[in-house]
Amino acid sequence: MNIVLASSNKGKISELNALLDSVGLKVVPQSEFAISDADEAGLTFVENALIKARHASRESGLPAIADDSGLEVDALQGAPGIYSARYAGRPTSDERNNEKLLNDLSEISEPHRTARYHCVLVYLQHAEDPTPLICHGVWEGEILTRPQGNGGFGYDPLFWVASEQCSAAELSPDRKNALSHRGHALQKLLTALPAKVRSL
Ligand code: IMP
Repeated sequence: MNIVLASSNKGKISELNALLDSVGLKVVPQSEFAISDADEAGLTFVENALIKARHASRESGLPAIADDSGLEVDALQGAPGIYSARYAGRPTSDERNNEKLLNDLSEISEPHRTARYHCVLVYLQHAEDPTPLICHGVWEGEILTRPQGNGGFGYDPLFWVASEQCSAAELSPDRKNALSHRGHALQKLLTALPAKVRSL
């Protein structure tokens, strides 16, 4: 069965295909159906993931998967949250986002720099599916005072992973997938998806 993925991110597509292959499913990026980006007007990760999945399913006529993710910083009352990609404005830039985060936390000392990444993955059987599968993964960390490491993307150079004693940008891709918010959400989706598909 084909599923449309409400993303054009090549990394996400191959990561999802590798995992979904084992349950006989294949994800096709929404760009293959010339589907425009949805208006992410929600106020939560769940709402935005649902908006994206519903839009992709409606436009393609296929079941859809979408994700929404971001960083929640306690000392900033949850910011940048759903605005993580565009924290420092548009055009979006990881470098400017990281600079803004460091500035906003300049007065905050170490024990109070706690943060976590969130990833919500949604599966919809069709655009009007009243029982979407919603899988939430979380990854706890702390925000460093200067960037460390060259891997990953986004806020990874500032995201300290205590269990590994390094930043997320210093982890191998496999290790990051095993620990990350996205990896956890994907594992939950993989566990729950066969029952949802069987129940149809
Ligand atoms: P999206 O889920 O691709 O829309 O990502 C939202 C934004 O959250 C990204 O642009 C990053 O700024 C941030 N983000 C989400 N996941 C990660 C991650 O694994 N590492 C670093 N930043 C992330």
